[in-house]
Amino acid sequence: MTEKFDVIVIGGGPGGYVAAIRAAQLGLSTACIDMNTGKDGKAALGGTCLNVGCIPSKALLDSSKHFHHLQHDYAAHGIQVTDPSIDIKTMISRKDGVVKKLTGGVAQLFKANKVKQFHGRGRLSADHRVEFTPHASSETIMLEGKDIILAAGSVPIAIPNVDFDGEYIIDNVGALDMTEVPKRLGVIGAGVIGLELGSVWTRLGSEVVLLEALPDFLPATDQDIARQAARLFKQQGLDVRLGTLVKSATVADGEVKVLLEDKNGETEMAFDRLLVAVGRKPYTEGLLAEDSGVEINERGQVSVNEQSQTNVPGVWAVGDCVRGPMLAHKASEEGIAVAELIAGKAAHIHFDTVPWVIYTDPEIAWVGKTEQQLKEDGVAYRSGSFPFAATGRGLAMGDAAGMVKMLADEETDEVLGVHIIGPSASELIAECVVTMEFHGASEDLARIVHAHPTLSEAVHEAALNLDKRAIHRGN
Ligand code: FAD
Ligand code: NAD
Repeated sequence: MTEKFDVIVIGGGPGGYVAAIRAAQLGLSTACIDMNTGKDGKAALGGTCLNVGCIPSKALLDSSKHFHHLQHDYAAHGIQVTDPSIDIKTMISRKDGVVKKLTGGVAQLFKANKVKQFHGRGRLSADHRVEFTPHASSETIMLEGKDIILAAGSVPIAIPNVDFDGEYIIDNVGALDMTEVPKRLGVIGAGVIGLELGSVWTRLGSEVVLLEALPDFLPATDQDIARQAARLFKQQGLDVRLGTLVKSATVADGEVKVLLEDKNGETEMAFDRLLVAVGRKPYTEGLLAEDSGVEINERGQVSVNEQSQTNVPGVWAVGDCVRGPMLAHKASEEGIAVAELIAGKAAHIHFDTVPWVIYTDPEIAWVGKTEQQLKEDGVAYRSGSFPFAATGRGLAMGDAAGMVKMLADEETDEVLGVHIIGPSASELIAECVVTMEFHGASEDLARIVHAHPTLSEAVHEAALNLDKRAIHRGN
């Protein structure tokens, strides 16, 4: 017998599980199929983000940051600690605990909202039928949904002649689960994962070398911010080699030998572990039966329009498996919008105001256009900035590296982009996103009262500096 639902979601990551909860809140009978299994062998909702992405990486970033501060920064506060040490197994099990709490929390939310959870693989066929193969079984069950939401996420990209073995040559999953600090950690790709996980292991004592193919560091980031980041990360011991192509990696005698080519020709480097972090690709393997009719584009993404509709009426797709940035909050907002559209409500997402955050120390966060993009687009703009070193709060905290940079339209003063490197950049960016969502001007931010002493005063002063009237710096 075919079980019928209003909505069937395939994938239980931040795109899928949020869509399922919102659909259920709107009174639609909803099922969510997710095949992920946690370390304990049981179903673990939350997808890449909760299990092997956003959350575990932030847990390890926080643990390693405490350890780093203990060793390098507390003495300035008069706090003396002799021979601090870190137990990596405890750090990893704390991370696993955080993951379990959150993935279990999603299961609880499903129960509370009456979302029916299916642990196993889902495959879409014609006429909104979904073939469900339960975990650890080969028998299939047929489900049918009035609407279907595909939220299958993404997987790491592999590069030729560098084969993942799960032990020496690893992806994010392996790098989040090492139980010893590798003496030498090679990272292919100086992007978001490379920088975040490279930071974790550098702080714990690894010699980390990032091998980046492109000649520029963080090319998508505003270049003033990228330059500061490169300088600060170098001081922290991250060795970023730009313009470096990895030709092959082989495991022998307990180490990984990497053959690479840079402007000086070919060289070999040896590492104890090699993390490959060269981007992710949509995961659509086994998702669509031949008769599903759903189009996949040339980039391997499920093709969707602005409203996340595929070419098949009633079949929608969200998150990493479709166009747009591969970010958890983008996936979730798409999930909510689709659930609301299915329920007959109006919904849309402004892709122009999706914030980005890189959780290094200092954090990097931005929203909107970079200065280089405005120049390319021929937009006339004004720029203002303010260093955290001139904020009372940053100095009091002993955490004052970095700055806020704001870009606004020369004529209308509408804020077009804000770029932050500094303490709590991930939180400070929210105010800037709100301003841009409301088409606010730099003058609006300049006139809003910001509490003193706070880091947000740097946002305020950057807005003032845009009009050459910052108080605590020269204009
Ligand atoms: P996913 O989270 O990938 O979930 C998809 C789910 O669907 C998975 O559980 C998968 O097993 C399941 N699935 C796939 N196919 C099927 C099928 N046929 N049947 C059943 N189940 C299926 N983003 C941020 O915004 N902030 C961060 O700090 C951040 N940190 C990250 C750190 C790392 C190390 C990584 C790797 C990623 C990070 N991301 C971060 C990106 C974020 O994890 C993704 O953008 C987000 O998880 C995408 O959500 P999703 O729902 O589209 O897919
Ligand atoms: P990325 O796109 O951020 O960085 C990949 C880097 O690898 C780029 O700099 C690229 O030039 C480089 N590269 C590509 N091929 C290479 C090669 N053959 N040799 C050397 N370098 C090469 O990708 P990522 O770091 O793997 O992360 C994947 C995605 O996951 C991110 O784009 C982001 O969407 C998401 N993510 C987000 C966060 C966050 O929001 N804080 C954290 C981690 C991951």
